[in-house]
Amino acid sequence: MTGNAATQANDFVPAHEPHGRVAVVGSLNMDLVARAPRLPHPGETLAGSSFAQVAGGKGGNQAVAAARLGAHVAMLGCVGTDANGAQLRAGLAAEGIDCAALETSPSAPTGVALIVVDDGSQNAIVIVAGSNGEVSAETIARHETVLAAADVVVCQLETPPDAVYATLATAARLGKTVILNPAPVTGPLPAEWFGLIDYLIPNELEAATLTGLPVESPADAAVAAAALRRAGARNVLVTLGARGVHAALEGADAVLYDAPKVAAVDTTAAGDTFIGGLAAQLAQGEPLDAAIRFAQRAAALSVTRAGAQTSIPRRAELAS
Ligand code: ADP
Repeated sequence: MTGNAATQANDFVPAHEPHGRVAVVGSLNMDLVARAPRLPHPGETLAGSSFAQVAGGKGGNQAVAAARLGAHVAMLGCVGTDANGAQLRAGLAAEGIDCAALETSPSAPTGVALIVVDDGSQNAIVIVAGSNGEVSAETIARHETVLAAADVVVCQLETPPDAVYATLATAARLGKTVILNPAPVTGPLPAEWFGLIDYLIPNELEAATLTGLPVESPADAAVAAAALRRAGARNVLVTLGARGVHAALEGADAVLYDAPKVAAVDTTAAGDTFIGGLAAQLAQGEPLDAAIRFAQRAAALSVTRAGAQTSIPRRAELAS
């Protein structure tokens, strides 16, 4: 090939096409976000300063992250027949996410999160699961072909435990790479779940709740991750905010991946971006080490921007 032809070949490298397949099973919420000088006391009515209605839910956020970061994504979940449901569905479709397995409940309203944020950035949140509570083992069985078509299956804990267990068990039986983000979590996971999980990805608080151990430092995270591996999870990644990710991996020494140094503006959805990015990379066959570093870069970029889904970057922004 002549130098000229080589130059031309490089000039015509096609734009990146997504090729890994990720199925996300999880929640979709409409987030109703009010800002107020402080959080209201019981019985008190406060004047707020602004209001926004934005798409959220850990399942939706992680699906959007995986799609923007390069994967073909299918969403399994449930919305209501109301306007919120239609808006959430349209938002996912606009990201190129396959919604064929996104069901509509005839009776339950779409999930909502009522969020009050005060001037000091403290928040108070009430989540009403609504239609997310209708995702069941039967839902997973109805859409098994969607899981079968995926390389990586991602799940969180904002849908009922039966649905989570069915997702883990079905995906493991089909030989998929299974990621569980145990959020939100109120106690230890059922013992029979661990052997079904390839990547268990809690943040510090979740790692502490899962193990009953304090997790306030990378050293604590190492102890908790080792306990979770002993319980049967193949790989455990404890996300530590600005301190990075503690990785306890099958057949390897534990390692702390430092986070890129950035000026954080809003850390909402950092974890969702990390998980979506990791899933997208693993789905297209990237080695784990590179996948973790890519997901960290994506999450670091997300914390430099305001909002949840609005802060999630696209793959092209991470080209190195
Ligand atoms: P969650 O949002 O679930 O609480 P974390 O806060 O642990 O999760 O963040 C997930 C990942 O996002 C971290 O492991 C890190 O890679 C990245 N991240 C979070 N906060 C920062 C930050 N301030 N600077 C750089 N990266 C960050």
